[in-house]
Amino acid sequence: MDWDGCIAIGNEVLPLARLLISQHAERVAIVSNNSTHLPTDFEKVLAEHGLAIPQDRIFLAGAETIRAIAEEDARVLLLSAPRMMDYARGFGITLVQRDVDLVVLMRDATFSYAKLDLAANAIRSGARLIVANTDMTHPGPQGRVVPETGALLAALQACAGEDQPDLRLIGKPGPFLFERACAVLGLAPPEAVMIGDNPATDGKGAENAGIQSIMIGGNSPLGLEDLIAWPEG
Ligand SMILES: [Mg+2]
Repeated sequence: MDWDGCIAIGNEVLPLARLLISQHAERVAIVSNNSTHLPTDFEKVLAEHGLAIPQDRIFLAGAETIRAIAEEDARVLLLSAPRMMDYARGFGITLVQRDVDLVVLMRDATFSYAKLDLAANAIRSGARLIVANTDMTHPGPQGRVVPETGALLAALQACAGEDQPDLRLIGKPGPFLFERACAVLGLAPPEAVMIGDNPATDGKGAENAGIQSIMIGGNSPLGLEDLIAWPEG
């Protein structure tokens, strides 16, 4: 299941999602493009609603990006929330601002001209690029949008030069998070179904991973209420 718009809006768990997950908790994994929170945060929010989904079944683009780069011995320029930098240091990742091997971009509310300067010039000098997601925005409260990683990526690409490296995408619609979720659930992709609200990330990502999907909300005629096993009568 996707998080934003399917399980919760922000950190407010939707009542119908709570009912659906309580019927299938053992079979649910969460795949989200969130790059500012850690799986333990979502585990805690769910636990406050009586839902037990352990953090090892919660796959967030930011945390998974850190885990993916932890396997490399690279000097990393990480543009992220301070908390994700702490998370990276916890894996022994070397965070630097010069002689950069790898530029890693996630949603960074402290993104600045100086960071753009560092990242663009690192890429021009041959650093590789990994991004948590390519979303431009995500829905915020009161109909506002929250600028996302893809908007920061657009600024970076605008000044990173003609000869840019292929970027590695960890989040949806890439298959990586889906593959991780299937592995932990012990399912082959055709045995899983993705429940999401964004055809471009949840739908396309599931397709890229060989998983069927059910879209809810937006232009879909389906909602969470259609997925719940209501008692007879
Ligand atoms: Mg969503």
